[in-house]
Amino acid sequence: MLQAKQYKNYREKIISNYQPRFRELYKLDPESFLLPTFRKAISENTEESFRRIISEPFPGVFVFEMFQPDFFEKLLAEVENFRKWAHETKLKIMRPNKMSKFGVVLDDFGLHIMLKQLMEDFIFPICKVFFPKECGAMFDSQRGSFIENGEDRNAELGLHVEDSEITLNVCLSKQGEGGEIFFEGTRCKKHMDIDPKPEERFDYCHIPGQAILHRGCHVHGARAATTSGRRANMILWCRNSLFREMQTYEKEFRDWCGQCVHEKKEKESQCLAAKRKEMIRIIE
Ligand SMILES: [Zn+2]
Repeated sequence: MLQAKQYKNYREKIISNYQPRFRELYKLDPESFLLPTFRKAISENTEESFRRIISEPFPGVFVFEMFQPDFFEKLLAEVENFRKWAHETKLKIMRPNKMSKFGVVLDDFGLHIMLKQLMEDFIFPICKVFFPKECGAMFDSQRGSFIENGEDRNAELGLHVEDSEITLNVCLSKQGEGGEIFFEGTRCKKHMDIDPKPEERFDYCHIPGQAILHRGCHVHGARAATTSGRRANMILWCRNSLFREMQTYEKEFRDWCGQCVHEKKEKESQCLAAKRKEMIRIIE
């Protein structure tokens, strides 16, 4: 509980003292933030309109462009401004994860209102079509973070799953090679440690400006960038606490878990083989 209180104090201290550089970033303005093609697809709100702008290079991994370049530049500059302010005021920045030495949580310095609206009005409609179970009637919380990879930044981010139902991962900028994201199968809690089948492995190279949408339980990692490479990403975790709670009751089979599906198929084929054997015997 003390931790939650400390975190609350940390955020309150920032919100009441930090002076943003770009105030316009703190309220979602679809016209200046988002690409017209993306806005049009969302307003039409059909699978067909989404498929026009979204590709699915691997089952459960969706790739598309959504932001205006101006949004990226302002966000990068705002993060820099926040870091500078934290340094000057001797504030110890709480990092998005243990591996991150330079990342920041965007919600912590006031971007939570903008991110919530972005999630509800623009990410939810896509999820409603491609991940209907996970998003349910609406996501109920989010967390946005800013992560950097590169020579003097993060090393490889090992395999992990995220504290989200759905994750939006946007590449804000990238220089040089390396830093690919690699996926290794979707796993429920029970099957988390099961190795991926060859067909579950999928590598994707980040392209600046592109967003990737995937399940939080889609096991993945990021390779370290090469010595000259550097990459900045915005990660938005979209959560649905009801879906999470339902998981504890739905014990046997989860159609989104690669291993659950695999085991079910195995069982079915064993069953079929046994039946076949029996039939052959009857005919004999
Ligand atoms: Zn499973």
